Amino acid sequence: MSSSLVSGYAAKAVGKQLEAFTYEQPKMGKHDVRVSVTHCGVCHTDIHAIEDYYGITKFPFVPGHEIVGHVSAVGTAVSRLKEGDRVGIGWQGRACMKCKWCLQGEEHLCMDIVSSGVWVPYGGFSSSVLVDNRFAYPLPDTLPSEAAAVLMCAGVAVYSPLQSYAIRPSQKIGIIGVGGLGHLAIQFARALDYEVTAISSSPEKKEQSLAFGANHFMVSNDQTSLQQAAFNFDLLLCTASDNINWGVLLNTLKKNGSMILVGFPDVAFNSTDLVAHQLSITGSFLGNRTTMQEMLSFAQTHNIKPKVELMPMTKVNEALRKVKEGKARYRIVLFNDSIDTEV
Ligand SMILES: [Zn+2]
Ligand SMILES: [Zn+2]
Repeated sequence: MSSSLVSGYAAKAVGKQLEAFTYEQPKMGKHDVRVSVTHCGVCHTDIHAIEDYYGITKFPFVPGHEIVGHVSAVGTAVSRLKEGDRVGIGWQGRACMKCKWCLQGEEHLCMDIVSSGVWVPYGGFSSSVLVDNRFAYPLPDTLPSEAAAVLMCAGVAVYSPLQSYAIRPSQKIGIIGVGGLGHLAIQFARALDYEVTAISSSPEKKEQSLAFGANHFMVSNDQTSLQQAAFNFDLLLCTASDNINWGVLLNTLKKNGSMILVGFPDVAFNSTDLVAHQLSITGSFLGNRTTMQEMLSFAQTHNIKPKVELMPMTKVNEALRKVKEGKARYRIVLFNDSIDTEV
């Protein structure tokens, strides 16, 4: 293969299976680094994007945004990274760096967020990606690549809101959904001194939830135990995207309590309780660069361990299917088996 070509897996149209796809290396800007991909996690957002749920996907579309690899080339203005460095990259591969939000250090809220995704032009299910070096994070030697990959999106997605709400010790939190995001949220929340209740629609997740560190477990469609938990939680973190019984769950919040959404569920609730108990429902989107770095270091210090199933990238469609059907335990990471990596 010519060194100016990249091999990846692309959906050629909305909802299609991925197929092998070769494309010209994108042109390198002065702040960019090219990274040879060794590992890439599979996130539900990849599936949403293939299905054009957000209305912004351009086809052919190469998904993949939980990336670990080695720097293979650097732009002329790059000094913080060099060839051979192992880095992690999350959903955000760049930002305009000049809008109000970028200038105040909230580049994950960049006004040009649609162009900021690492999959613009092509994502991590490929032999290499090109990103702004400021969004490629050097990884500690002791952090395994498959674990680092998962932390780059799922990790920061849950760490950021948990960390920003963990202002008072011993808050009671309910974590809704024990999957790719939820199993990490349980671990981060315990490390941040929350009293954690894992809430899942699957009773069989109880044992594993407690093993991840949850103090308690509740079944989300068990109306009786949810009603007994009325006014129990300071905070609910919703990592699930379906099977959410909004009314009963909101009743488990204390007055002035908050529910934070980190996925993209369809929401339906009765406003009466929301108003009468001064509840908040809010969203949280990834994190800025400082939070990314803090999260990596926090995960290492507190031995946060994503539970990962490794699969070869050649089986990308099988991996996507497992994630879509909720059968991943708990996160799938693809390793690059067939594609020439450049380091
Ligand atoms: Zn993601
Ligand atoms: Zn910006």
